[in-house]
Amino acid sequence: MKITYYGTAAGEGWPCIFCNCEMCETARRLGGRNIRTRSQSLINEDLLLDFPADNMLHANIYGLDFKKVDYLFVTHNHSDHFYAMDLEILREPYTHGRTRNLNVYGSLDVKKQIDDNVPKAKDRDPGYVFNRAVPFETICVGDYEVVPLLAKHDRHQECLIYIVRSVKEDKAVLYCHDTGTFPDQTFEYIKNYPHKLNLVSLDCTQGEIKDGDNHMGFVDAVGEKNRLKTLGVCADDCIFVLNHFSHNGRILYDRLVEMAEKEDMLVSYDGMAIKF
Ligand SMILES: [Zn+2]
Ligand SMILES: [Zn+2]
Ligand SMILES: [Zn+2]
Repeated sequence: MKITYYGTAAGEGWPCIFCNCEMCETARRLGGRNIRTRSQSLINEDLLLDFPADNMLHANIYGLDFKKVDYLFVTHNHSDHFYAMDLEILREPYTHGRTRNLNVYGSLDVKKQIDDNVPKAKDRDPGYVFNRAVPFETICVGDYEVVPLLAKHDRHQECLIYIVRSVKEDKAVLYCHDTGTFPDQTFEYIKNYPHKLNLVSLDCTQGEIKDGDNHMGFVDAVGEKNRLKTLGVCADDCIFVLNHFSHNGRILYDRLVEMAEKEDMLVSYDGMAIKF
């Protein structure tokens, strides 16, 4: 199984285009792994997690091949995770020669974003099909079993995190963006999950600030990693990744790598691919 991180920033990106703060100025000066775009990851070649306004950049600069993507799972409708308007270009006369629909999964709040923003295609196939992802109900698509779990995030909408398991490869990813510490119901589900987790991607938006309510900071993410490890659901060689960062968390890439190494965790960057 493979995960590729194409976008690893929180909503404002890093550096934020309008921002003069020290963290953004330093990221501009250092460049490299300190440049972070908005949230998107790809499982293998065909299952996409989130669909931000940086779709074009991820495709045309970073090399994400949307032509191979069959399934899109949306965590929630914040703009750094879901830019509904790009769904319009799936149909003629914008896209030619795509012979199958993109299957989009998400909450009813994601559906509303589509209904409110994507113009209806009169007499044309829109090129996508929306499917509701219901918390704790397994969705079987292609080779995958995907379980939407509840996140602790925006209280005005249903926010989801996902377990994505490849049946053929018998490997599973727990993808946790955006969320604070796991809500009880979600933690219970993970505790009883019948398969091993091979990679866990934890929110680290708040960096050096402790949170846990809406997002996680470094200490919250370490705490959740340790809590998961006690459950026995993580494979012995389970990989823990910190992802989704904000300038307000005030930890640039190199310092975070030093902190993460002590906890046996990896730090994501735009373009990072992990095979496991
Ligand atoms: Zn976000
Ligand atoms: Zn800034
Ligand atoms: Zn969010």
